[in-house]
Amino acid sequence: MQVPKIAWITVNHKCNLRCRWCYQRELKGKGTTMDKEMAKGIVNLLAGFQPRTIVLIGGEPTVWNHYFTLARHIAGKGLRTTVVSNGLTFANYKFVEKSVRAGITNVTISVKGFSPQGYEAGCGYSGGYEVVKRAIANLSRTPIKTMISITVSYDIVERWKEITAFLKEFPKGFYSFSFEKPVILADGTVAMDDRMMPGKIASWIQDVMYPSLAQSGIDFKAEFVFPHCQFPQSFIDEVEKSNHVFGGCLLLKSNGVVFDPAGNVLPCNHFVGFPLGKYGVDFKTSEEFLMWRESQGDFYKKTMSAPCEECGKCNRWYKCGAGCRLWWLYRGTPELIKTETASV
Ligand code: SF4
Ligand code: SF4
Repeated sequence: MQVPKIAWITVNHKCNLRCRWCYQRELKGKGTTMDKEMAKGIVNLLAGFQPRTIVLIGGEPTVWNHYFTLARHIAGKGLRTTVVSNGLTFANYKFVEKSVRAGITNVTISVKGFSPQGYEAGCGYSGGYEVVKRAIANLSRTPIKTMISITVSYDIVERWKEITAFLKEFPKGFYSFSFEKPVILADGTVAMDDRMMPGKIASWIQDVMYPSLAQSGIDFKAEFVFPHCQFPQSFIDEVEKSNHVFGGCLLLKSNGVVFDPAGNVLPCNHFVGFPLGKYGVDFKTSEEFLMWRESQGDFYKKTMSAPCEECGKCNRWYKCGAGCRLWWLYRGTPELIKTETASV
């Protein structure tokens, strides 16, 4: 098992938006907030591993009371801080300047819609579109490295044409595209848009999304956590060659760690209520964390192995990894595997 190379700290489950697809809606405002001392303690623990960056996520981390204090604490440990935000707060230039002074090195702005109407449809706030554009412009005037992140939900699929105008407005941005996936809540309910199942959007990805991004000339990466058999091998080869692919399932690599606001370690941040262990109970120091993590070997062994017999026999398994494990929890082989293109 590897030591964490990247760490996500979920500082709150509160947000200043109510996006239609986000699990925050399911929490109905009951979202929790991380205590400042716990956040500092987790950073101290992580500093022992010198991760590439500590990523502050939420909810919305910029509305967390201790945002600046923690950023200064992370910088004091010589580590980089990445903030993943809906961007609204960065429309205030004074907030941006204070973030620079606090040592924030990277911001990922998650853009939720690409017209006032798109923003209204996704988040119920048409004004958000202009606000987020102001935030991107503000950040571009600072040393903070900014990435524009787009989670492709079905709303975005339906309004894909609007993205073209946005890309023209910010052609120099660095973009990351990921896809909406299920979220499992503490009571076992799943927040999931069935229309985003791999078999339902694979042809759109291949015929519309990738070609239009490639033609736009922007610098981008797109997450590719789909069962590869949903696509022809020639398409996968082309995408890989283009160097536009990032990431992979965290559960397969086991080189990252995600904390929730109560200090629980989650398998990934889509498992909102399924802790594997807890800061202050199962471990407190870097050494204790490593020992605890070793004891979780069975869990990781399971998530790192093939989820079905077909994948176990498939020549594409090594590169493919069968996609997001959450689909496998709720759907099975008939829906996720396309046997005619699997290499079994
Ligand atoms: S199970 Fe893997 S691919 Fe799915 S959301 Fe979690 S980390 Fe991402
Ligand atoms: S059968 Fe499994 S390993 Fe093979 S391409 Fe499909 S999902 Fe990937």
